[in-house]
Amino acid sequence: MLDTLRSIIQAVNDARNLEQALSIIVTRVKGALDVDVCSVYLASPESGEMVLMATDGLRPDAIGTVRLEKAQGLVGLVAERAEPLNLDNAVEHPSYCYFEETGEEQYHGFLGVPIIHHRQVLGVLVLQQRNSKRYHEDVVTFVVTIAAQLAGAIAHAEVSGGIEGLTSQQTQETLSLKGLPGAPGVAIGRAVILRQSVNIDSIPDQHVEDPATEKRRFLEAVKAVKDEVRAMVDNMGEALPTADSALFDAYLLMLDSHSLVQPVLDGIAAGNWAPGALREVANEHIRLFREMEDPYLRERAEDIRDLSRRLLQALKQRPEAKRKRRYPRNTVLVGEEISASMLAEIPPKSLAGVVSMRGSITSHTAILARALGIPAVMGVDDLPVSRIGEHEVVVDGYAGRVYINPPAAIKKEFRHLLKEEQEFTEGLRELRDLPAVCEDGFRIPLYANTGLLSDIAPSLNSGAEGIGLYRTEFPFMVREHFPGEESQRVLYRKVLEAFHPRPVTMRTLDVGGDKALPYFPIVEDNPFLGWRGIRITLDHPEIFITQIRAMLLANAGLGNLQLLLPMITTLDEFTDASALILRAHSELLEDGHLLPLPPVGAMVEVPSIVYQAEKLAERADFLSIGTNDLTQYLLAVDRNNPRVAELYDSLHPSVLQAIQMVIEGAKRHKTPVSICGEMAGDPLAALLLLGMGVNSLSMASSALPRIKWVIRSFSRRQARALLKKALQADSAKTVRFNMNRALDKAGLGGLVRAGK
Ligand code: PEP
Ligand code: MG
Repeated sequence: MLDTLRSIIQAVNDARNLEQALSIIVTRVKGALDVDVCSVYLASPESGEMVLMATDGLRPDAIGTVRLEKAQGLVGLVAERAEPLNLDNAVEHPSYCYFEETGEEQYHGFLGVPIIHHRQVLGVLVLQQRNSKRYHEDVVTFVVTIAAQLAGAIAHAEVSGGIEGLTSQQTQETLSLKGLPGAPGVAIGRAVILRQSVNIDSIPDQHVEDPATEKRRFLEAVKAVKDEVRAMVDNMGEALPTADSALFDAYLLMLDSHSLVQPVLDGIAAGNWAPGALREVANEHIRLFREMEDPYLRERAEDIRDLSRRLLQALKQRPEAKRKRRYPRNTVLVGEEISASMLAEIPPKSLAGVVSMRGSITSHTAILARALGIPAVMGVDDLPVSRIGEHEVVVDGYAGRVYINPPAAIKKEFRHLLKEEQEFTEGLRELRDLPAVCEDGFRIPLYANTGLLSDIAPSLNSGAEGIGLYRTEFPFMVREHFPGEESQRVLYRKVLEAFHPRPVTMRTLDVGGDKALPYFPIVEDNPFLGWRGIRITLDHPEIFITQIRAMLLANAGLGNLQLLLPMITTLDEFTDASALILRAHSELLEDGHLLPLPPVGAMVEVPSIVYQAEKLAERADFLSIGTNDLTQYLLAVDRNNPRVAELYDSLHPSVLQAIQMVIEGAKRHKTPVSICGEMAGDPLAALLLLGMGVNSLSMASSALPRIKWVIRSFSRRQARALLKKALQADSAKTVRFNMNRALDKAGLGGLVRAGK
């Protein structure tokens, strides 16, 4: 059953359009369950009627003509109740409705199952049979499973069908897709698909009549991928030279190797089609590599998977599509999963926007996009990635919406917005050198978050009073091994010098979770609850001490360094890490380096430490609240999962209470508290944090001018009153509503929109 299910879903995903997808569904389900009829009804977006869209068993000319109003007939009943209906004799049911055009009076057994996507009934999948008999529970569960799985594919195919229309000359229909705001801003540009992942496991076997042609097709794909890899090496910017070229050399070697190509050709000779033969060979290689002891070799399994995906992609592509990649001036990077390194591959001048099927506001791609000031929309579930290459795209990073092939009116509207945005930013620039002071004179330093050398300049220009969070993992990510002490020292020195005498808070390595190092793979079922942050570096003191030494040495003669420890869960972790810092410091002193011991702070981002914040504050020089992780762990919502992104909100009253608890605990020891999660850059949240008495805020530099404006427009007294109301609210929604109203009343409506 599982194989049948998988192969039906794969066939639907590969369908060219909605019509083909539905026809596959009805034929394959009917065949698999051996019933007399299988049909799909879909809700019309205009009228809400259930329209017969595909059938195997009823009269084909009934398609498109049989329409049931809301709650009409058995199909309408299933849609209305959003529950399956299993009847032995449909004709006897009071809701039964007869449609002459279907010729269906001879069917008695009826099973209707709703097709639901994101709580919305898209349609109904119906089975019918001549016998008067209820369907067995196994059949019902199979159909329920298949309807749930197909809902996404149908929603996707509906969208893709729209795209199909767009490519023809006559229909210039616009496709508007909803995602999540990733980075604020508006962009108008051309979609460039960087890479599309294909699930190799779901490729079915298929018999080929003409193995010679199929072999040729495969060898052409191998050549195309080799060309693609060489072109990548040529195109590569200076940002990632060593790591990527080593990876790509390995790819070329594999594509030349007899062990990969020849067995696929043998598989084709035995009658399988190229994708099926490739799946067999790739999976065998992946298994072999996975079982190896050496972590570096184990990692090669992922390379084989990636390479196989590229080959499958090349097999799918038409020859004219295989040409060298050029990035248009206004590239909108589109993909199933845009990674931080993909983003770094595009020349910054050409990159206008980012649209990703996966990820959300707190994924590192979004954080990087915000740091670079590139509008991004994440988690666009229904993005028909393979069909929108080179289409014109409007990215609305404020509302989290994407328009594909926008008509003139929409483009005009967004051009206008772009202009307004530029003017707004110009206006804010005037605030650059003014402090963030409330109307009643309270001053709160605003710092910038950085992690790339390329975002130092914007941070400096934004008027930041220092760096509140320097994420060190990005420099670790773009290499092929852990960077050594000297190369780290040089990098950290540049950052410390650029901001001197302003403080720079450098966080020690925080990998794991969604931040993977290509040369240090960690495979876990629950990476966010696993080996990450300080847990890794305490287990690997050699990595930790190298980094600390590099930071301390970089600080020589400057003295603006502060150290920050991520993912502290227990007080002991802080004590142990502090001891290692002291050890590194005294070793350097012994070697004759007269260096200051910088302040050492702890991140509060794990709920356990919220309740021990007072004790932690007694030991640490400062605390920095990482609201991205704190929100994820408090609300039990994966920060990168678009399915639950609606639940992820740092304005949840429980999150606000946790932050307040930390601030109050720290106050008892006069330990300063900063906020360095994305929340600090949300104008609504910044006011509440101000009300709590936080000592500083650190955010993406692009958010800084707006936050400064908000702070300068309110008094602390007002902020406290708003906080009181927020803490009593029942939900994040209510808090947002009230805060939006307060900002609107203060004449800052535009900011509210930008900060969503
Ligand atoms: C956080 O968790 O809020 C934080 C600042 O750290 P990161 O986003 O890098 O996990
Ligand atoms: Mg964190």
